[in-house]
Amino acid sequence: MSAELILGKDVSEEIYAELRQRIEALKAAGTLPGLAVVLVGDDPASHVYVRKKGEMCESLGMRSKTIIMPESTTQSELLSVIADLNADPEIHGFLVQLPLPPHIDEKAVINAVAPEKDVDCFHPYNVGRMLAGDPGFLPATPAGVQQMLVRSGVETAGKHVVVVGRSNIVGKPMAAMMMQKGPGADSTVTVVHSRTANLPEITRQADILVVAIGKPRFVTADMVKDGAVVIDVGTNRIDDPTHPKGSRLVGDVDFDAVKEKASRITPVPGGVGPMTICMLMANTVRAAERSAGVSQ
Ligand code: NDP
Repeated sequence: MSAELILGKDVSEEIYAELRQRIEALKAAGTLPGLAVVLVGDDPASHVYVRKKGEMCESLGMRSKTIIMPESTTQSELLSVIADLNADPEIHGFLVQLPLPPHIDEKAVINAVAPEKDVDCFHPYNVGRMLAGDPGFLPATPAGVQQMLVRSGVETAGKHVVVVGRSNIVGKPMAAMMMQKGPGADSTVTVVHSRTANLPEITRQADILVVAIGKPRFVTADMVKDGAVVIDVGTNRIDDPTHPKGSRLVGDVDFDAVKEKASRITPVPGGVGPMTICMLMANTVRAAERSAGVSQ
């Protein structure tokens, strides 16, 4: 039997409806939530992401500020823009779009963002709070995955979650979040990566399999347990001459085969994708609520 789909569009719309109410309440109390995005250089994919973030802010009725800086920007020029945003009372959250040009030290930039405005949750202070089970913010993509599980009624307590991939942006925080105490977590977590021995033996033990490696259709049906919930974070563009664009997006999971074995699965595109911006917006609203004194 084919797995039930978990669609990011449906889950994100539910969250946006809640955010709109919180934004209205903030506005009524005199606070207009504001998000700024800083983009350095000409990476075309980054320009698309940044534009989408601005459009979503506007559609929610929030303040949006986009700062585009040339590839030749120096580190001290970027740090000075960050200092201004840290001090700007109209901006409740901001992020510097990654990747940065190679002459800029990414860590120095991440560390310069004021933790209370760090809506990407990349600052070590916020990473530490998340690990300690007292999150200031949650990183957008793993938080989006967790919301997809919770809002589609997937039980996580006592379940074996296997996370494939250990990046700082997805794999590591995903594992850290699922092992916490509380709703949408309380899982037994295993993390596997490129140096793991017998990886398929471990993925076959997963009740919930979260895959974030950036390798097209890496996870095949024989690597998945019958009835598992499969969340595919991967976004890979592959050549496809039959497609009008000559290419198309696929995930890290062999969707057509795995959907016949899983109980629930996220497609690519249309699965986790829309959740990342949604959770960024949620973090910005939370930052604005904190600054207005209506949330901790
Ligand atoms: P990274 O490249 O930073 O990390 C990839 C991870 O996968 C590494 O930990 C690496 O292991 C592991 N890995 C690579 N190859 C294998 C393999 N053959 N077997 C097991 N593990 C392997 O990627 P990200 O975490 O940033 O992104 C992963 C995917 O998710 C990408 O396709 C990306 O585009 C997508 N993504 C999607 C988002 C969304 O909004 N939907 C947001 C963020 C990412 P090691 O550490 O040992 O090298």
